Amino acid sequence: MELKPDILHALRSDFPILAEKVGSKALVYFDNAATTQKPRCVVEKISEGYYRFNANIHRGVHHLSRLATEAHEAARRRAASFLNAARPEEIIFTRGTTEAINLLAFSFGEAYCRPGDEIVITEMEHHANIVPWQMLCERKGLTLRVIPIRDDGSLNLEAAAALLNERSRLLAVTHVSNVLGTINPIVELVRMAHDAGAAVLVDGAQAVAHLTVDVQALDVDFYTFSSHKVYGPTGIGILYGKAQWLDALPPYQGGGEMISKVSFEQTTYNEIPFKFEAGTPDYIGSTALAEALRYLQDFGIKRAAAHEDALLRYATEAMEAEIPNLRIFGKAPQKSAVLSFLIGKLHPYDLGMLLDSQGFALRSGHHCAQPLMQRLGLEGCLRASFAFYNSREEIDQFIPALKKALPLLDG
Ligand code: PMP
Repeated sequence: MELKPDILHALRSDFPILAEKVGSKALVYFDNAATTQKPRCVVEKISEGYYRFNANIHRGVHHLSRLATEAHEAARRRAASFLNAARPEEIIFTRGTTEAINLLAFSFGEAYCRPGDEIVITEMEHHANIVPWQMLCERKGLTLRVIPIRDDGSLNLEAAAALLNERSRLLAVTHVSNVLGTINPIVELVRMAHDAGAAVLVDGAQAVAHLTVDVQALDVDFYTFSSHKVYGPTGIGILYGKAQWLDALPPYQGGGEMISKVSFEQTTYNEIPFKFEAGTPDYIGSTALAEALRYLQDFGIKRAAAHEDALLRYATEAMEAEIPNLRIFGKAPQKSAVLSFLIGKLHPYDLGMLLDSQGFALRSGHHCAQPLMQRLGLEGCLRASFAFYNSREEIDQFIPALKKALPLLDG
């Protein structure tokens, strides 16, 4: 269900950037899968951090350091409750999804992978959930197995069942595809992977702004997301891991904070989560991320998602009705707010630039999913991705803007 106009108006006024212009045109921001805009409260939290409680955390006994430490640890508790983790120690702060996956690929790879073992991913993964596993496979002599997609963009679950076997060490799968919008059936995949004896990492980069995630109900071993895709600041993200895994895994980076005792002969490591957080953490970022999660939870993720789903349906139907030679990529029955498309032979960059000249921000290219592009037989495509602050009016403006581009490019 769409948000009522007065609610949407109030919501949009929390995001000052939405009132910006592109030249003389109003900005229409349809690039939310790349990064989301930030509400005022998040931006203010960053300033407040630097103005009021900036001090290095954990080590200090002074007042400011205590304030900063408490803010950072409160942020960890907020992230834990956001994902319904059993314990705050199961939340590790990273620089984002990419760093979280690299951390796990290194740490899990060191401890649990032997030559001949297999890592299973899917055909719809972002490069961040492909390349770290390829690097691990090369380092340790493992094999990468890839679950194919069906033509509608859903995952081929029969193929998944056939691929997971006693050699599978880990299944790394995206919760929501950043190109197709497909929402993967995580509960089912986790069951299959666990039956085969494999652990599961879910890449939640595109999920957390649109779905309520409960890591305990999903029974995932690891889950990751980036703050900037859920209305928080850039440069910070989360890796969730079940405590029994995190306790068992070796650290990824060495340095301050992650140690218990250091001598030149031997070093022992700190407890979780600190074992995985070498160096001064981004305590300003974590606090601002917590504010973003609070903001979204207070608004209601289900309410936000219902609006985004309605926009996705409306935009899909309007484009299909009005745009000739349209191809939409991703028609899975379970789909989130991403609409990837091409029109005839129009080059996605040309169309993207023409839309930009009319104020529309869309992403064009391979969307960091080149293997998926190969599967779809494409060099790239355009992607419109919606957030809860987008409106039906913006889509009503988008259709004529798209139409305007057609004759310009034909000629
Ligand atoms: N996975 C998916 C599905 C994504 O959409 C993205 C960002 N486009 C990433 C991983 C990587 O996220 P980040 O660049 O924030 O580390």
